[in-house]
Amino acid sequence: MSRDNNPLLDPTKLGAATQMVHGGGKRSPFNETSEAIFLNSGYSYPSSEHAEELFQGKIPGAHNYSRFANPTVDMFQERMALIEGAEAGRAFASGMAAVTNAIMSQVRAGDHIVAAKALFGGCRYVVEDYAPRFGVESTLVDGRDPQNFARAMRPNTKVVFIETPTNPTLELVDIKAVAEIAHAHGAKLIVDNVFSTALYQKPLQLGADLVVYSATKHVDGQGRVLGGIVLGSKALIEGEVHTFLRQTGATLSAFNAWVLLKGLETYELRIRQMTDSAEKVAEALASHSKVSRIIYPHHPSHPQYELAKRQMTRGSTLLAIELKGSQEAAFTLSDSLAVILISNNLGDAKSLITHPRTTTHARLTEEARLETGVTPGLLRLSVGLESSDDLIADLMFGLDQV
Ligand SMILES: *Cc1c(COP(=O)(O)O)cnc(C)c1O
Repeated sequence: MSRDNNPLLDPTKLGAATQMVHGGGKRSPFNETSEAIFLNSGYSYPSSEHAEELFQGKIPGAHNYSRFANPTVDMFQERMALIEGAEAGRAFASGMAAVTNAIMSQVRAGDHIVAAKALFGGCRYVVEDYAPRFGVESTLVDGRDPQNFARAMRPNTKVVFIETPTNPTLELVDIKAVAEIAHAHGAKLIVDNVFSTALYQKPLQLGADLVVYSATKHVDGQGRVLGGIVLGSKALIEGEVHTFLRQTGATLSAFNAWVLLKGLETYELRIRQMTDSAEKVAEALASHSKVSRIIYPHHPSHPQYELAKRQMTRGSTLLAIELKGSQEAAFTLSDSLAVILISNNLGDAKSLITHPRTTTHARLTEEARLETGVTPGLLRLSVGLESSDDLIADLMFGLDQV
C-alpha cells in the first residue's frame, strides 16, 4: 500500500495535538472510529496450551485479566506515554493510587525517602505518615534549594519525591539539579507533574526516573472521573510498577480510561486556551491595589522566574493570589464571584478558586502552612475555559467588594 512509506505512521514524529487525537489507538475488527470500551474482566483462550504459554509470558501483548491488562486502558497508557516521551506507563484508579504505587513500589523497610515539604496533601501524607509505618523513614526539605536535598540524602535513600510547580504556592524545584543529586546517591527521582501538565514540562528529559499524574485534573479536565498514571522506562514500569499494580489492584476501570482518552483528544487545545487566560488573569491582578502578590511561574515577579523559563515552556493553568488583609478578604472575594466556582479541584473547564488554609491545607499546623507559603490571604485559582474577559470582570467585581 502507498501509505506504508508515510513517515507520519510513526506516532513519535507527530505534533502533540495529533498524538492526543490518534496516539495509542487500536481498532477492533469492526473498525470503529472512536476508541472502543472493553468492559470485560476476563478473557478466554483457544486452548489449554495457549493459556499455559500466555501465563508463562510467552505471548507478547496478550491479555489475561483486566486488573492489569485491558485494551481500553492500554490505549490510554500508550497515548500518555507518547505525550510524555516515555517508554511505558501504567494507569491507576486515581492520582493518589498512582503516587502511592510509584513511591511504595521502589522502597522496602529500612529504606529512606527525601521529599519536598510543599506537596499535595495526600502525597505528603503517604511520605510523612504511611511510609514510616512500614519502616521507611522520610525527610522533608524546602525544595526551592537543591542543596537541601543533597544534605538530606543518606546511604539508604532510595527515592526522592517532588512536585513542581507546587500546590498551592507554585514554587519550583529544579528537576535537573535534584535528579543529579538523587542519582549520585543511587536514588530514583519521582516527579508529580500535575501543575505544569505534560505539555509544558518534561521531567524524564530532565533526568527524572518516574513521572506521575492525577488524570482527574487536566487529562479529564471536565470534572467527570478520577484516574492516575505512572510513566517511565520500560524496565521500571514493566518491573516493580506493573507488579505492584497487578498484585495490589488499584486498577483504572475501562470506562474511566475511555473518558480519559476522550479528554486527551482536546487536551492540547484546552490547556493552551486555559494558559492564555491564566496569563491574562495574572497580568490583570498583578498590579491591583488589594493584591499583595500574584504567583505565576512565567510572570517576571515569580522569585524563580529564571528557572521557570528554563524548565517549563509555558506557565501553568493555575495561579496563586495573595490578598492584603488576610482571610476575611479572601473569603469576601471568593463569595462575590458569579462565574468562578469555589472548589478545591483543578485543571477543569470551569474556573475554580479555593482558600488552601481552610480547605486543602487545613490538616497541617499553622507553622507547617506558613513554611510553605499558605498564608491566610492566599487563594489558588485554576483557570478554566470561560472567556478571559468574564473571568477578569468576575475577579475585579470580587476585589471591589473587599
Ligand atoms: C489531585 C492531585 C493528586 C491526587 O490525585 P487524585 O486523582 O485526586 O487522587 C496528586 N498530586 C497533585 C499535584 C494533585 O493535584
